[in-house]
Amino acid sequence: MKLIKGDPIAEAVYAECLATFETLKAAGRLPGLAVVLVGEDPASKAYVGAKDRKCQELGMYSRKIEKPATITQAELLSEIDALNADPAIHGILVQMPLPKHLDTDEVIRRIDPAKDVDGLHPVNLGKLAMDDPTGFAPCTPAGCQRMLVESGIETAGKHVVIVGRSLLVGKSLALLMMGKGKGANATVTVAHSRTTDLPALTRQADILVAAIGIPKFIGADHVKEGAVVIDVGINRIEDATAKSGSRLVGDVDFEAVASKCEAITPVPGGVGKMTIAMLMANTIRACRMRAGI
Ligand code: NDP
Repeated sequence: MKLIKGDPIAEAVYAECLATFETLKAAGRLPGLAVVLVGEDPASKAYVGAKDRKCQELGMYSRKIEKPATITQAELLSEIDALNADPAIHGILVQMPLPKHLDTDEVIRRIDPAKDVDGLHPVNLGKLAMDDPTGFAPCTPAGCQRMLVESGIETAGKHVVIVGRSLLVGKSLALLMMGKGKGANATVTVAHSRTTDLPALTRQADILVAAIGIPKFIGADHVKEGAVVIDVGINRIEDATAKSGSRLVGDVDFEAVASKCEAITPVPGGVGKMTIAMLMANTIRACRMRAGI
C-alpha cells in the first residue's frame, strides 16, 4: 500500500508558484490575496489564518478582512465590490460557511470571475464544465487531481466513484475527472445520500473519493481490493487519549481500509495540504493573467 502524502506534492506546487513569482516580480507585479472572514467560527478562523500565513511565507501580499457575524448582505457586497476594484488584489476568497442570514450565492456571484480563485463563480464553474483552461477550478478538487497525477496514478479509462455531490468538492471533481486533460478522461459516477446500495457501487471503483463529512464512513466493505482511495473528509472527533481531547479523522476508516488499497491519502496530511497550495497557485495565475504574462 502506498501512502499519498499531501506535503511533498504541495511543496512541488509551491516550487512552481515561486518560479512564476520571480517572473512576476521581475515585471514589477506582486500577487495579492484577500481572504474575507465573517463571524467567529473557530475552524474558519484557523483556515483563514493558515491561508494568510502561507501567503506571507511565499512573499505574496495578503489581506485578511474580518467582519462581525452581524454584517448585512449589502455591507458584505460592498466589501466585495471594493476588492474587485482594488488593483493590489488578484484573488478574493470568502471563507465558507457564511452566517445563515447572508445569501452565499449572491456573494459568490458578486466576485469578479477573474479574481475568483476559489473557482465557485458560475463563470468559472461553466469554464470547468467546458474544459476551458482559462478558468479557475475549485481548490480541493484541483488538489485531488494533482495528487493523482503526481503519484503516477492513471485515471484515463478508470472508474472513479465520488461519494458527495457538493459544488465545493464532489460535483466539481466529477467535472475535472471526466474532462479531457491530464489526470482526467475517467468514467465518473457520483453518489450521494439518496444513492441505493452504496457499498455495491463504491466496490466498483478503481479510484474512490470520499467527500461526505461523516467520520470514518467508508469502511472495508465499500472498497475493492487494489483500489486507490482519496479521502477529502476533515472531521474532528473526541479522543480522550489526545492532549487536546480531540483529533482529526477523514471520511474513510483508514485502519480498516488501508491494507486493501493500492494507494490511499491520510487525514490529516493528505488532501487538506493541497487545498491551500492550489489556492496559492490560482492566485499567482490570476496575477499573471492580469499582467498578461
Ligand atoms: P457537504 O455537506 O456539502 O456535502 C456532503 C455530501 O455527502 C453531500 O452530497 C451528501 O449527499 C453526501 N452524503 C451525506 N451523507 C451521505 C451518505 N450517508 N451516503 C452517501 N452520501 C452522503 O460537504 P463538503 O463537500 O463541503 O465536504 C465534504 C467533506 O470534505 C467534509 O468532511 C469537509 O470537512 C471536507 N472538506 C475538506 C476540504 C479539504 O481541504 N481537505 C475542503 C472542503 C471540504 P446529499 O447531497 O444527498 O445531501
